[in-house]
Amino acid sequence: MKKFLLLLLPLSLITVSLFYVKVSSSENKGRKYYEEAGQILWEIQTDEKIIALTFDDGPHRKYTAEILDVLDKYNAKATFFIVGQNAEKNPELITRMYDEGHELANHTYTHPLRTNVTNLMKEIQQTDEVIAGITGYQPTLFRP
Ligand SMILES: [Zn+2]
Repeated sequence: MKKFLLLLLPLSLITVSLFYVKVSSSENKGRKYYEEAGQILWEIQTDEKIIALTFDDGPHRKYTAEILDVLDKYNAKATFFIVGQNAEKNPELITRMYDEGHELANHTYTHPLRTNVTNLMKEIQQTDEVIAGITGYQPTLFRP
């Protein structure tokens, strides 16, 4: 299965830009290579006024619950980049995110600021397993 590495940053109401950080190779092949390979998506051109909402580092017992309440109030969906160890502490929030139709995505297990590729791949796998263990859903997005 392909693992997409990306950051979503809404640059305007019209364009949603997706950036990536590559972890599987030490050689930087550049944007063109990854776009043509279909592995990374930088931008989505659209005439619609859209925005992508993303939240990192949770779930947090208080703040994530509040975010979910606001999203529910406005019938909005978001992508949550989840830290695995926080998911283990708050499985009810992971279940709520999933049940309410939000995208569950991987943001490592311990949120290390520096690591090596071997450890990073373990962190990604570990968080995928935590999320899948709670929801049955296998994340396809990763934010470094
Ligand atoms: Zn983070």
